[in-house]
Order: sequence, then C-alpha cells, then structure tokens
Amino acid sequence: MKWTSLNDIREMYLSFFESKGHLRHKSFPLVPINDKSILLINAGMTPLKKYFTGELEPPRHRMTTCQKCIRTPDIERVGITARHGTFFEMLGNFSFGDYFKREAITWAWEFITQKLELPADRLWVTIYLDDDEAYDIWANEIGVDPSHIVRLGKEDNFWEHGSGPCGPCSEIHFDRGEEFGCGSPDCKPGCDCDRFMEFWNLVFTQFDNDGNGNYSRLAKPNIDTGMGLERLACLMQGVNNLFEVDTVRNIMNAISEVAGVKYGADPKTDISLRVITDHIRSTAFLISDGVVPSNEGRGYVLRRLLRRAARHGRLLGIKELFLSDIVDIVAHENLTEYPELTEKLAYIKKVVRTEEERFAATIDAGLSILGNMINDSLRAGRASLSGEDIFKLYDTFGFPIDLTREIAEEAKLTLDEDRFKALMSEQRERARSARANISGWSDESKGLLGELPKTEFLGYDTDTCEAVVRAIIVDGEAVDEITEGEFSLIFDRTVFYGESGGQVGDTGTVTDADTVISVADTKKTDGVFVHVCSTAIGDIKVGDKVTLAIDKTRRAAIRRNHSSAHLLQAALRAVLGSHVEQAGSYVDADIVRFDFSHFAALTDHELAAVEALVNAHILLGEPVTTTVTTPDEAKKMGAMALFSEKYGSKVRMVKMGEFSTELCGGTHIDNTAKIGLFKIISESSVAAGVRRIEGTTGLGVLRLLGERDALISDAARALKVANTAEIAKRSAALTAELHDAKHEIDVLNSKIASSKKDELLAGASVCGSIKLIAKQTEGMTLDIVRTLTDELKDADSSLVAILSVSCDGKHNYVCACGRDAVAHGAHAGNILKAVSAVSGGKGGGRPDSATSGAGDAAKIPAALAAASDIVSAMLK
Ligand code: ATP
Ligand code: MG
Repeated sequence: MKWTSLNDIREMYLSFFESKGHLRHKSFPLVPINDKSILLINAGMTPLKKYFTGELEPPRHRMTTCQKCIRTPDIERVGITARHGTFFEMLGNFSFGDYFKREAITWAWEFITQKLELPADRLWVTIYLDDDEAYDIWANEIGVDPSHIVRLGKEDNFWEHGSGPCGPCSEIHFDRGEEFGCGSPDCKPGCDCDRFMEFWNLVFTQFDNDGNGNYSRLAKPNIDTGMGLERLACLMQGVNNLFEVDTVRNIMNAISEVAGVKYGADPKTDISLRVITDHIRSTAFLISDGVVPSNEGRGYVLRRLLRRAARHGRLLGIKELFLSDIVDIVAHENLTEYPELTEKLAYIKKVVRTEEERFAATIDAGLSILGNMINDSLRAGRASLSGEDIFKLYDTFGFPIDLTREIAEEAKLTLDEDRFKALMSEQRERARSARANISGWSDESKGLLGELPKTEFLGYDTDTCEAVVRAIIVDGEAVDEITEGEFSLIFDRTVFYGESGGQVGDTGTVTDADTVISVADTKKTDGVFVHVCSTAIGDIKVGDKVTLAIDKTRRAAIRRNHSSAHLLQAALRAVLGSHVEQAGSYVDADIVRFDFSHFAALTDHELAAVEALVNAHILLGEPVTTTVTTPDEAKKMGAMALFSEKYGSKVRMVKMGEFSTELCGGTHIDNTAKIGLFKIISESSVAAGVRRIEGTTGLGVLRLLGERDALISDAARALKVANTAEIAKRSAALTAELHDAKHEIDVLNSKIASSKKDELLAGASVCGSIKLIAKQTEGMTLDIVRTLTDELKDADSSLVAILSVSCDGKHNYVCACGRDAVAHGAHAGNILKAVSAVSGGKGGGRPDSATSGAGDAAKIPAALAAASDIVSAMLK
C-alpha cells in the first residue's frame, strides 16, 4: 500500500463506485433538509433516508457520496482515541433496492485490496451472529481466512432504528499491530482499543421490523455503507491517529505553532491540540452550513464546541484569540472539496471571533472560580457541585453546562442539574423582562421592584380591570403621589402586556373618578409590570384603586400580527423545509417581522406559496387555543420549540388548528379568521443564513392597498392617462417613443460624423509613409467618434486618425489605423498609450483601433500635437 493523500483517497473511492454504475453526489449540508428527526447529519445515509424508505424516488438506484458528518456523542472521545472526531467525512456507496450483499462485499474488498492495496493478512471482518450468508461470501467467495472473521452481537453488528427497515452489518477492521493494542489476550475486532481499527461498515438492510420484534424479509433489500475518510487516510498514511492525516495535520501544526507547543512532546498537551483541531473543523463547517452560536439546538452544539476549543487553548497557555485565524487553514485545506468554506471565510471567521471574544472576556476568571468551587466541594466532602455554582458559571462566565460537567468530572464530581434547570428558568423569565427601561432608576427604586410581588397579568382574557397602585416612580425615585409629568406606575394586577417575546408593550389609560392618565408603553422586569405614563389629569397616590384599560384597537392589531407570525413560521417550514427556525421576531400594531434560518433569498414563487398558505389557514377560520401545560406534555402535542432546559415547569402552548403549535407567552386572536388577510411586504437578508420577512395583517393590508392605490394614481397622473388600466400601455408606448427618438439622434449624429469625415480627410498631414489626423472634436459622443474614426480608416487605408472626445464631463481619445498604416508599423493601442500619457490618461487596445482616457482636458492639445512624433517613431 502506498501513501495516499486524503483528497486522492476520496477521489479514488468516488470514481471507483462511479465505475460500478453509481451516481456521484456532492456532500449534503450538515443541517438536515426536511428531516425533523435529527439535529445534524451524522452518516452518509442520513440525507438519503427517503430514498431508502421509498418515500422519494432516487435519481439513480446506485449512489455514492462523501458526506460531511458531525457526531457530538463522540465528543469526549475526541483527542483520546485515535479514531474519533466530532467532524469527519464519510464515504459511502448506496443501493436502493438494486444490488445487495454479494456486490457490496465484493466491491468493498476489491477497492481496499486492489485499489488501495491494503494487505489482506491485516484485514479482519466482523459479521452479525447468524448472518451465514455474509460469512459464506467472505470466507468462500472472497477467501478471507476464517480466523479473521468475527461474529458479533446485535449491539455492534445489527443496524436498527425503531421499527422499519433494518438489518445486519459487516465491518471491516485493520490490524494496526500490537503496539496500538490494549494488551488484553481477548483483544480482537470489537475491542474498544485502537489496535483493530474499524474503518468500513457495510449495512445490509434486508428486514422490516413491525415494531413488535417480528422481522420479515424485504422484497427489495438496500445497501448502505459508511467508511470514515480520515480513518482510512490514517491507515494509508501509516500515522497514529486521525489528526496526523495530511490535511488535518496541517491544521494541528498551525495550532501548535500558535501555542508554542510541540506535538508529541507531552500526552496531555497532545490531547488539547487534537481537540482544538477537531473542534475548529466542526465549527467551521457548521457555520458554513448556516448554524450560529446560541443556547439551544444546533447553535448550542456550535457554542459548546467553540468554547471547548477555547478552553483547550487556555490549557495550552494561549492567551490571545486564535481560533478565527486557524479557520484560514481549515478553509485552505478543504478548498478542493468544500470551496464554500473559502467563499464564506470572512463570515465564518467573524462568527468564530465574536464567540471567542465573548468567552475570552470571562474564561480565565470562570476557570479559576470553577477551580475554587471544585476544591471547596472536595474539601467539604461533597460529591457534587451545587446548582447555584453551575448557574453562576453559566450566567456570569458563559460556561456551557457540558463544559462545567466535563471539568467537574475530571475531579470526580457530579452536578446538581435539577437545581440548575430551575435557576435557568427563573433567569429566563427575568431576561425576557429585563428590557424594561429601569436603567436610570435609583437603587432604591430598583430594589423596590424586587420587593414587590409579581404583577398578576389578566390581559390574555380581558382588556380592562380594576387594580391598586403599588408604586409610583418619578425620575427614577419612588414617590407616594404625583399630579403631573412623566412617571411609571406599578399595580397589583394589570391588563397591559409588558414588552416581551418580540411583542411590544400595550398602551391605554388609567382612570379613577377624577383622574385620567395615559400609558405610553409597558415593560416587564422580574415579573413586575412597569407602566410608562406620559400625561395626567388629576392625581394618583399609592394605594389608589383605579381602572386600567388598554387601547383595544391597537392590541387587536398586535394580536393579528402576532398570530400571523405563528402561521408564517409553519408556512415557511412547510414550503422551505424543517431547517427553518425562528431567529428573532418583532410584532407591533403595524407590522410583523420574522427572522429565520434559511440559506438563500426566497424566490417569488416561494414567497407567493408562503403567503398563500398563511392566507389559506386564515380563511379556514381555525380556532386558536392556548393551554398551560408541562413541557413534556407540550412536546408530546408537537409544540414547535427545541426542548432544551429552556422552559420552566409550566409552558403556554398556542395552537392554531392543526397547522401550528408553538410555545408562546404573547397575546393572540381566538380564531385565525380574525387576522383578516396577511400580506408580505418585504423579504431580505439579516446575516448569513438568516432571512427576514416583514408583513402585515388586517387593517395593515388595507393601508398597504391604499398606499399602492395612491402610487398608481400618481403614476397615472404623471403619464397623463385618464384610466389607471392604461398605465402599462402608455408606459410601453413612451418607452418605444423614447427608443425611436434615440435612434433618430444616432442617425443624425452619424450624418454629422460623415459630414465631418471629408473635412478631416482633407486636413490630413503626411507623416513618413502614412497620413495622420490628430484633432479635437466638439459636440460629439464617444460612439459617434468611434464610428467616425472607423469610417476614416476605411476611406484611406494609409491613415492614422486620432481624435479626442469630450462628452458628459469625460475626456477620451479614439484612434484608428488603416490596413496599410498598420503594415507600416502603426499600432493604435500603442499610439494611445503614448498620447494619453502626455495628458495624464491611460489606455491601449488593438493595432487597428483603440480607445483611452485622456486625463487632464487642458493637456489634450499638447498631447495631440505630440502625436506626429509618436507615430513617426513607430513606423518601420
Ligand atoms: P466506532 O465504534 O469506532 O465509534 P461506529 O460503529 O460508531 O464506529 P459507524 O456508525 O458504523 O461507526 O460509522 C461508519 C464509519 O464512519 C466507521 O466505520 C468509521 O470509519 C467512521 N466513523 C464513525 N464515527 C467516527 C468518528 N467519530 N470519527 C471519525 N470517523 C468515524
Ligand atoms: Mg461510534
């Protein structure tokens, strides 16, 4: 076997299977398309699932791919074993009801022993316990030594995922030699050490499991194989582990250079080097596929990987930000197969840098505090870190809980995760309401908020209520009463929605017998609703009983817009795919703004489909119901949200017919028909991979129509048509008229040019063996002068014509040389190079015709005067 680069191995594999009739397909993105069952693609077959189940017809019944994969479950093994990365590429050949076991095994063997020339005596295969068919092919048809065939149980060698298609597997292992082994006398394929490295898994999907453990044979069995490209490269290159493979090693080298640490010098620092190498690869690919760091779902995976890499950077003693620079190498090393990394390089680096910066600000302090917490716990004989401690690390220092868990586990401590989750949900409630503008308040006033009980919110069901004034804040100070000016009011209960979850706060009035106060905005902080009041008639005191009433019309518009956001999200997922996730939203009385993850601008067709789907569900008049339930129950009922620890013990679930189910604290209409109509106003990009749709509903649509009507009327007036239906016709007629007029001008211009031609020819001077015209023109466009010089050279083949043109504030030269003049050595391009240089311009062109910029207009006469000498010098 010969040392072969990773890129060459990939190509050898794909072309080998192409030669066996497979269709080659490039890697699918890491974010699954139209597949809610997984967060990230983790095997070559995953994006092809629907071809296996028969739900979709494949483009061909044999396919081959090299698929980008992410496996976070392997994260803790990365850097420690020789063979695990969170990111790797998986080579695979697939048969959708076409060929089966015999071909799969025969071709696998042919590829590894004949193409790659792996020595057969170091190859081992495993098969499923009772898969005698596979045994027979390996032992009797291929000729593998029976002592190298190992039968393994269901856990290792049977591929199954709930009910549905499943089947036995056969893995191919390479014996890397005793020095890589664990030394156990039982060490053989299947052992978790690195001696027998599994590098290829052949899955024979031949059964259907009815869900009760009854297996029936499939009429058309499938083949799905997966071979880790880096693992194979590791064998072919005779290196110790995945990270020493050519392209990956280059990344690791760059890291060890930044760290000033030599790879191979210390097992501990080697682990950190490998971890960073792996994580920076996964993160670069995740970001290029549209994932952005966040605290949930894929975003959390990305954040965890980046912060873990940053922490290992610290372990290596790297003090400065370094990860984003390493992305350059990752992009460079993957340029041939994954040019998208280079195309999006600046963006990827920016995301990495921002995340690294955020974490860097606190990582050192966090690590040392965590160290102290661990020491305290150990000293006190506690077996776990408290929920408060973990929460502090998360909240103040940005430590993902998994990172804390890992570091704690190194000291054999567990975490009180239940308490942590409870603190998280309390904090979320706080964060959601932290937008209330209390920054200018005195400490006492802020403290007052903490002491007040949470405001009871009645605004889901009613627009008005009685309430008691609990506090009045003026200029940040708490007072007992107020007669006028601007101030904030806090009540025991309210119908005013406090700005949160993207929905603006309510406006309205506070009244009692002789007082009218208007509420300009409502904020929410720590569950306490702060009513921002602007004017007052009468006075108000703490303890007063008052009537609160929201602006119903405005709130109704907000409700319509908010509910339309839910329908919009469901429609986007239906039209574009389940990768669509909410990335932000804003709802007020005029518009609904919805940001979501998607990679490309929506086509007109997609926009129309989304709009139509939303309106279809409005017109169906589906009931909108809200239920307060547990997160588990909500999940069962199919609520849209990623179920991390984000939610408290109770969640509010908003359901619109069967179309949309979301967790949401906002206010909604009770039937979709009340939205009236939904209209998209615009679609745009917010950041790479994040799109924004703005739309409006109900009266907003009417307003939009009114604006458009006005626009159409204005256009009709400007075009002087009585009937708006004639706008298009009239515009087309005017455009045609304009076109004709332009043409007429051109004709006239060329007539002028022709008339000038004779005059110019008459004035030509003799210059050695040729004739020369070098003149300024006036009142002509560049196009006309070009035509003119062409006509001049056609009229006299020994002529060199150089004309200057000044038009629209621009100054140019045009030069044309007749055939004989060119034969005598004249070269229009070179002439203009020299002539325009005299007046500070630039240009060049062909021997027979050229155009150049003239530079300084004042120097044009001098430049034209020099033409004669320039041309003479050029002649043979
Ligand atoms: P292992 O037991 O070594 O973790 P696996 O059984 O999880 O491997 P499969 O799910 O069969 O592996 O995946 C198919 C192939 O993908 C493997 O044979 C291997 O070459 C490769 N592979 C799997 N996991 C990883 C990983 N974390 N890093 C690199 N390559 C991997
Ligand atoms: Mg595995």
